Amino acid sequence: MDTILYEVHSGLYVNLTNKCPCACTFCLRQEMDSVGGSGPLWLSKEPSAEDVIAEFSRFDMSRYTELVFCGFGEPTEALDVLLKAAAYAKERFGIKIRVNTNGLGDLVNGKRIAPLLAGLVDVVSVSLNTPDPAKYMALVRPRFGEDAYPAMLAFAGDCASAGMQVVMTTVATTLTDEEEKQCAAICEELGVSYRIRPWEG
Ligand code: SF4
Repeated sequence: MDTILYEVHSGLYVNLTNKCPCACTFCLRQEMDSVGGSGPLWLSKEPSAEDVIAEFSRFDMSRYTELVFCGFGEPTEALDVLLKAAAYAKERFGIKIRVNTNGLGDLVNGKRIAPLLAGLVDVVSVSLNTPDPAKYMALVRPRFGEDAYPAMLAFAGDCASAGMQVVMTTVATTLTDEEEKQCAAICEELGVSYRIRPWEG
């Protein structure tokens, strides 16, 4: 059976899709098929919004501090399902909602998606990875080529302007101090928070 929902600490995570426009050199999917005790995150078919909503009934939703759209792929690749499931969860459980994303959802969907997320999504966590567009290309290998890095930054700024809490992340030990300072400056310019998260590999 596919793993659609899985627990990580106090959060309930949603695995909507295995699609992703990137091929990051560090992607966990290359080496494992689950995260923590999640169960396999490769999907035999993408869940519909109804499938996700049906899964909620198998969990005690009052136990979780947040619902996190993350999984083994880029959640904005399944934007319609994300929006429907988030709307249901917000209305039914009043739970905080976070989306963990590579920030390329505008390019994936061919439109600005921040206005669609606003009001449903509380926190958007965007992988910044590096302050250097050329290094980004080498690390993330996005199918959109050089359009990707500026689009990712624009998306983060757009989400902040739409009222969402935005956190841009890099991974500890992967950047120099100088690069981390540059990331902090980028985030300040965009009006978003900067977080250096622990290495999970
Ligand atoms: S964006 Fe995430 S899911 Fe996609 S290739 Fe990179 S690490 Fe993997």
